[in-house]
Amino acid sequence: MSDNPKPVNFIRQAIDDDIKTGRHQEIVTRFPPEPNGYLHIGHCKAIWLNFGIKDDYRGRCTLRFDDTNPLKESQQFASMIEEDIRWLGYEWTSLAHASDYFDQFYDYAVHLINNALAYVDSQSGDKIRQQRGTLTKPGVNSPYRDRSIEDNLSLFEKMRNGDFEDGEHVLRAKIDMHASNMNLRDPVLYRIRHHTHQRTGDKWCIYPMYDFAHGQGDAIEGVTHSLCTLEFEDHRALYDWFIEHLPVPSRPRQIEFSRLNLNYTVMSKRLLTQLVDLGQVAGWDDPRMPTISGLRRRGYTPESLKNFIASVGITRKPNVIEMGLLEKCIRDDLDLKAPRAMAVLRPLKVVIENYPESENELIDVPNHPQNPEHGRRQLTFSREVFIERSDYEDNPPKGYFRLAPDREVRLRHAYVIRCREVIRDKHGEPIEIRCAYDPETAGGKTRDGRKVKGIIHWVSARHAVSAEVRLYDRLFSVADPLADRKRDYLEALNPDSLACLQGCKLETSLDRADPRIRYQFERIGYFFQDATSRPDALVFNRIVSLRDTWMRKSQHSSN
Ligand code: ATP
Ligand code: MG
Repeated sequence: MSDNPKPVNFIRQAIDDDIKTGRHQEIVTRFPPEPNGYLHIGHCKAIWLNFGIKDDYRGRCTLRFDDTNPLKESQQFASMIEEDIRWLGYEWTSLAHASDYFDQFYDYAVHLINNALAYVDSQSGDKIRQQRGTLTKPGVNSPYRDRSIEDNLSLFEKMRNGDFEDGEHVLRAKIDMHASNMNLRDPVLYRIRHHTHQRTGDKWCIYPMYDFAHGQGDAIEGVTHSLCTLEFEDHRALYDWFIEHLPVPSRPRQIEFSRLNLNYTVMSKRLLTQLVDLGQVAGWDDPRMPTISGLRRRGYTPESLKNFIASVGITRKPNVIEMGLLEKCIRDDLDLKAPRAMAVLRPLKVVIENYPESENELIDVPNHPQNPEHGRRQLTFSREVFIERSDYEDNPPKGYFRLAPDREVRLRHAYVIRCREVIRDKHGEPIEIRCAYDPETAGGKTRDGRKVKGIIHWVSARHAVSAEVRLYDRLFSVADPLADRKRDYLEALNPDSLACLQGCKLETSLDRADPRIRYQFERIGYFFQDATSRPDALVFNRIVSLRDTWMRKSQHSSN
């Protein structure tokens, strides 16, 4: 991304204005994930935005874990989040936790009580919800709303000291039960949770609500631009109310942008957690997951993800992005980067009858058709080769230029062969094709001017390396798995999202394949070794096919 032009968007324009008017000298942002799951590609948008601004404006960006709910959070999730951000190529200026400020938040709550701006409510959660009203109906005041400051102080202290059970009391802000913005209807600030926190241990048994912690956390850190997704727009009035009534050291400016949504997947951590817990996928880093770790394991590069976010851009318009755009970004990134190799996924044996049995020859070929920096390698050609099962047809349709009875085809980088005979199993399925090669066609060139349109890939049977290849398809078979509210989204899972092919045949050079290299298997797609791949048991993941339409096209043309 470094050689790309700096992005332009309405948030950067607002920052430029704040610098021009002298409102800020230094720009401070933060990325505030809750460590209750792995990061997904949606988070990538917020990361790209916040860390990108820090880099381009030479400012600061804090990675702040919003660890206000000890029930769902863990250190393991936090560590994974750090790893994912670093892998994307970003570094935080400082690492913080909402829990670092628990003492300060408590003092802020006491400050509100002292100013008659907060009270302890002793009703059940259900009751409080019922009294909240609706968009068209105002809320109802709690009977505890007018408790004295002294009573509130003493009850709140007892809450903190562990004198009450979970749910017995909550602390609420005293704002306005008639406010048209429902977030201002005396929101809960603190709840009792007798639960050990991953960082503060058993020091606390009351925890601040996200809304009470978030804006104050930003203010304590001196965040100048608090960038968040649109669902927090309605909370801004509440955050501003806190800032106005608390002795905070700074006033962050909140700007909202639209969330990233992708079709053919789900993006909420709650649903992703469910997919993992139900075993619908092999884990958070299953290569079909929209998580950063899943995309990494599949073979996506940090550049492709950042280019994807850059091309989506930052706006306030809610929208759903096509999965095809993400796939295009990885193809574009790998086209020049990925060395080529030949691999046959569903092998069909071809015996070249007029090629000497004991002989073989080495063919020197470039690793990349346009980029000589990738160097060269040698392919071994011999009497028996494997071709793709789909590159042979008994009854070729019109426009099919690959192998068929008595037809010629070029073996990429090698010779023209002609199909002479087909050997079949008892079901009539071809299991071996007997061919003759034309020794005058080395390098696939014909000297007599005859046209051989089809070029297919192959590997030498004797020299091939066996591997497992995993082909991934979209996780869901419908574009919006949540659209049909009457149907469980799990029913929309694509039953064919993973095909594990055993006994695939790779060219010899892949015997020592570097696990960090992404290859283009010619005519098939881009591939990357899976985390479980071992030198004696290679496993390749298909990152993406060569073209969206490859499967369809390949039935009609040669290439
Ligand atoms: P989810 O709804 O997936 O659980 P979240 O918002 O609860 O996500 P957080 O860990 O709180 O997850 O998110 C951290 C930051 O990432 C927040 O600032 C949030 O706005 C941002 N973020 C989360 N999802 C997206 C998304 N799909 N697009 C853009 N930003 C996102
Ligand atoms: Mg959240």
